[in-house]
Amino acid sequence: MADAAVGLLREQLAGRRSQLAAVLRRADAPVTLRSLLSEVDAALERMDRGTFGLCEACHDPIEPGRLQADPLVRLCLDHLTATQQARLERDLELAVRVQRGLLPPSPFQAGPWAMSYEYRPAHLVSGDYCDVLPGRDGDWYFLVGDVAGKGVAASMLMTQLHAMFRALVPGGLSVQHLVGRASAIFCESTLPTHYATLLCLRAQPDGRVEICSAGHLPPVLLHDGGAARIDASGLPVGMFCSADYTTTTITMVEGDALALYTDGLSETENGSGEEFGIDRLEQAYAARAGKPPAEVVTECLAEVDRFRSGPPADDITMMVIGRR
Ligand SMILES: [Zn+2]
Repeated sequence: MADAAVGLLREQLAGRRSQLAAVLRRADAPVTLRSLLSEVDAALERMDRGTFGLCEACHDPIEPGRLQADPLVRLCLDHLTATQQARLERDLELAVRVQRGLLPPSPFQAGPWAMSYEYRPAHLVSGDYCDVLPGRDGDWYFLVGDVAGKGVAASMLMTQLHAMFRALVPGGLSVQHLVGRASAIFCESTLPTHYATLLCLRAQPDGRVEICSAGHLPPVLLHDGGAARIDASGLPVGMFCSADYTTTTITMVEGDALALYTDGLSETENGSGEEFGIDRLEQAYAARAGKPPAEVVTECLAEVDRFRSGPPADDITMMVIGRR
């Protein structure tokens, strides 16, 4: 773990230590808190000695995501006891259920819009973000994002994105201000290395769709038997606290569809290490122009699956929004 990250953790832990010490000064403090205090002191000592983050059994670095979540851990995953392993597995199963519970319904239909998506974690939990939210005056917001990193740490940040947009969308901000606000909050509340790419779409009842990209892969418009990328650019959310965003507006007619996806899809590799790539994906979409969203998702993913060798290396999300 980098020195700066340890420094920040040390600061947070020292703050929590003084709160803990204050509680322990009271006569009615639970006795179990005494051993917690000595664990905290031991962690602070490891930070000062420079041995923080190393497994006490094998001296290899402990998984950074676990340390971030609990600076008191002293063993890498390989060296946990059977009881500790079992407890961790139960926690993960619970995390999987919590994350599944945050996903929107699929297929989804509202007004002139029909949407379908597929959300596939590479392991148990995913760092991809996917949501649908009602706006004002019959508008709908469609969101797809990708937190840098994978696994539990990324999934925790994904839940933060989820909560942030759920809290911000009803405020009625313009799309660019909505993404700017989300970026500022994400930036202030996470470590500098934490950021996410994101597409935020506002679909209006008349078919207009406003698109804001925070450094995400371009959405693809399926129209009139073909497919075209909609180029939009912006900085990932959380990278700078004061980033400004712009939007691009397109108009979708009946039968059109817009495909959003994460890089786990385009970066899928075959046996020779070749990427599926954006061009091939665009062709796959073009071949399905005019089909209902659910079929576009299923057929395009099947094409990517046929291309892949081995298990997926990254989280995958594909969302297709069609105008009825
Ligand atoms: Zn170890």
